[in-house]
Formats: sequence, C-alpha cells, structure tokens
Amino acid sequence: MKKNNRTHTKDLAVALVTGGSRGIGRAICRELAQAGYYVMINYRSNETAAAQTLEMIKDAGGAGETKPFDVADSRATQTALKDIFSRFAGVQVLVNNAGITADGLFALMTEAEWDSVLNTHLKGFFNVTRPIIEKMVNQRSGSIVTLSSLSGLTGHRGQANYSAAKAGLIGTSRSIAAEVARLGIRVNVVAPGWIQTEMTQDLPRDAIKQMIPMARVGRPEEVAKVVRFLCSEDASYITGQVLSVNGGMY
Ligand code: NAD
Repeated sequence: MKKNNRTHTKDLAVALVTGGSRGIGRAICRELAQAGYYVMINYRSNETAAAQTLEMIKDAGGAGETKPFDVADSRATQTALKDIFSRFAGVQVLVNNAGITADGLFALMTEAEWDSVLNTHLKGFFNVTRPIIEKMVNQRSGSIVTLSSLSGLTGHRGQANYSAAKAGLIGTSRSIAAEVARLGIRVNVVAPGWIQTEMTQDLPRDAIKQMIPMARVGRPEEVAKVVRFLCSEDASYITGQVLSVNGGMY
C-alpha cells in the first residue's frame, strides 16, 4: 500500500465515499486508501460497519475517518461538508456510491417508494456534489465518480424508480462533465451489473447467473478497481463516460 504519510490535514489528498460502510462502497474505500487517499467513509446509520471499514483501511496501512450523514438530507450534508472544508484544503475525489432500492411494479408503486429512491440517488447527488464541485472549481482539480447501474442504461422490470434515478445520474454527470472539463475536473460514471452485496442478497442467484455471459455475479472489488482507475492519473483523458462492469451484459 502507498502510505499517506503527510502529517498536516491541509496536505492530505481527501476522497469522500458516500455509503462507504459496506458492499461496493467499502471496497471503494479500501482501494482509494491503497491509492494513498485519506478516505472519508460516509454512512447513514450503520456505525459498526463504517468503523469496520476504517479498521480494514488502517490495518492495511491507510488512513481515514468515518463521517455520518444522510445524503438525502441537505442540511445534514451541508453541516458535514462544512466540517470537511474547514479541516482540509479540499476534496480531490468524490465517489457518489450511496444507494437504495424499493423495487416493485410501477402500476403498484407508492409515492413513498418513488420519492425515497429518487431522493437518495438524485437529491443525494446534488446535496453532496454541488458544494464539492464548487471547491474543485476553485482548486482547478478533482475527480468525481458516480455509481449508476445497468438498470439505468437498459431499464429493468420492477425498478422504474431505481432506473429513473440511475439514468438521471448518467445525464447529470455528463452535463457537469462538459461544464468543468476545462477546469481540470473529470466526472465519470460506473454502471455495475449484478454485484454480490447485501443489496442483492435476496435475489434469485441462479436465475441471475443465467442472464450473465460470464455466468457469475461480480465482486465489489471488481467495481472498486474501476472506480480507482477512473480517479487516477491513468484516466486523465477520460471524462463524461459511463463504464459498465457487468460480466458482458448489455
Ligand atoms: P449496499 O446496500 O450494500 O450499500 C449501500 C450503501 O449506501 C450502504 O452503506 C448504505 O448505508 C448507504 N446509503 C444508503 N442510503 C444512504 C443515504 N441516504 N445516506 C448515506 N448513505 C446511504 O449496496 P451496494 O450493492 O454496495 O451498492 C452500492 C452502489 O452501487 C449503489 O448506488 C447501488 O445502487 C449501486 N449498484 C449496485 C449493484 C449491485 O448489484 N449490488 C448494481 C448496480 C449498481
């Protein structure tokens, strides 16, 4: 692991990962810590899981801290970001990973199911990304990666709310990418297929495997490594793109 051995907080390269306590977010936190970032592990309620993510990072020689706030709550997000901005020179990497599902057929979908999914993904994206991109504009650098989904590219039965949110994240990311490309800021999207996490644990594994050309679901690490790549200098000419990580589905 590349050690983040800078001692003053103002010198640290900070990466904020929303929903970093478990699943894909946890794997992203570990990858970015390995890349040398001081990782802000955001979580909404599961303090124990977030603390475990931080321990994993520290055990491997990395550094970071946990940062509880609900991305859908604009006031709570503002307060958390204010604290980060006061203690650190800026945020170099933002990964919008926090997400939920509330699946069901659209004909039977409640307003609460629609709103909760759109608020978490789209309002959450706005709440976190807008103030951070303002900082990035001032610092003339930064990389933002947002987790969309195959569902946002192709649509998926039973996920009208989730598909709307995930497609929206692609549209807004591409628009913002065009706005800030000249300022040294890159904005990209990763669209995973079926990844083995708590979000997908109750889905019929065998039926899903049959739909995937590689005949297996993906691992969180396989998404996290792509996020790490997009955040790195190796991806210095990539912006406004959607990278699928899905075992060959389209
Ligand atoms: P997960 O349910 O295991 O983890 C989601 C994380 O987001 C959790 O840590 C949760 O606490 C956090 N979160 C949810 N709402 C939040 C909020 N309002 N504020 C702060 N944190 C919040 O899910 P996962 O499978 O790891 O998914 C991570 C991302 O990848 C999500 O955006 C998801 O939509 C996307 N994705 C997952 C899959 C998959 O197959 N697992 C496929 C495509 C896209």
